[in-house]
Amino acid sequence: MLYIRPDYYTEFHCTASACEDTCCAGWQIVIDKKSLKKYKTVKGSFRRRLRRGTDWKEQVFRQKEEKRCAFLNDENLCDLYTALGNANLCRTCRRYPRHIEEFEGVREITLSLSCPEVAKILMQHTAPVTFQTAETARQETYEEFDELLYSMLFDARDVILRILQKRALPVGVRERLSYGIAHDMQSRINRGELFECRQVLEKYQKETAEQFAGERMCEEQADAEGRFAAAKENFRGLFKLELLRQEWDVQLLEVEELLFLGHTAQEYARATAEFQSWLAENYPMWEIQKEQLLVYFVSTYFCGAVYDGQVLPKMKMALLGAETIEEILKARWLKNGQMLDGEDIVDVVYRYSREVEHSDDNLRKIETLPFSF
Ligand code: SF4
Repeated sequence: MLYIRPDYYTEFHCTASACEDTCCAGWQIVIDKKSLKKYKTVKGSFRRRLRRGTDWKEQVFRQKEEKRCAFLNDENLCDLYTALGNANLCRTCRRYPRHIEEFEGVREITLSLSCPEVAKILMQHTAPVTFQTAETARQETYEEFDELLYSMLFDARDVILRILQKRALPVGVRERLSYGIAHDMQSRINRGELFECRQVLEKYQKETAEQFAGERMCEEQADAEGRFAAAKENFRGLFKLELLRQEWDVQLLEVEELLFLGHTAQEYARATAEFQSWLAENYPMWEIQKEQLLVYFVSTYFCGAVYDGQVLPKMKMALLGAETIEEILKARWLKNGQMLDGEDIVDVVYRYSREVEHSDDNLRKIETLPFSF
């Protein structure tokens, strides 16, 4: 078995009651069968509490007001952990914020950005993220697994990550090159021409492709009407997602009002240009942070296309993630009187991840949302 994890993986430590949020509210915690079985045999004073706090039929923990887990106390500590210890937490709680993507003979382990501590670690990580690997003798075979497609996706992801980390190029150019790869790979996969994908990878690593992507970016940015329409459509798609926390809806409505509602394309273009030059002068780190976000989304989800062949939607999802976070930051910058700091960025990043990545429904839907530059 091959295990892969990002280099910042070991930096994570849960801050528990000192956490600015909690991972035990806002979403339903599913209990694995093994833990459920264990909970049924618990004796002593905690038994009654466990009985009441568990929805045995739905196999989830019950929730109190504000969707707080039944076992989360007022100090934001877990009573189940206190009473039964770490070994008796269900798999979801034991693992979080670790996230595992499973492929035949491979486990890709990452840390979910929905945890504010993880968002902090990634947003403070200045070097290009690298990935560590370890191998064990454990073997496994899936009944159905397209090894050829996986190996192509694995190689393509390597190329895309290299492009995304090519800091000599503006992030916008790196985004367009990555989009181009996924777009061209998708048409070849649809036609059953998997091996042609190698030529796509070669093509996009050439200087001519960089020049082309650079020119496209300039043209798109100069087209104020087109840019405004695309940004509006990208953003409006988010309203179609399942709402996990009410505050997210409030935030979306506020961003819509600050950037789009009642504004013209020229006003939007002016605000965008001013924001970009403010970032370049006062917060150049954003360029690196955006790269880290793109690398996070691509490294986590791109190879999942082995199960559905949907390469382009995975890439769109990654781009939509980074672009949406930037739009929310732009709106916050406007609201704060043209100010923004590292805490704002961590806040926006982890809240975005909470809404999008912690609902299977949203993960499915976001791949179907429109995205264009
Ligand atoms: S969100 Fe992260 S830091 Fe906060 S309690 Fe959960 S795991 Fe710990």
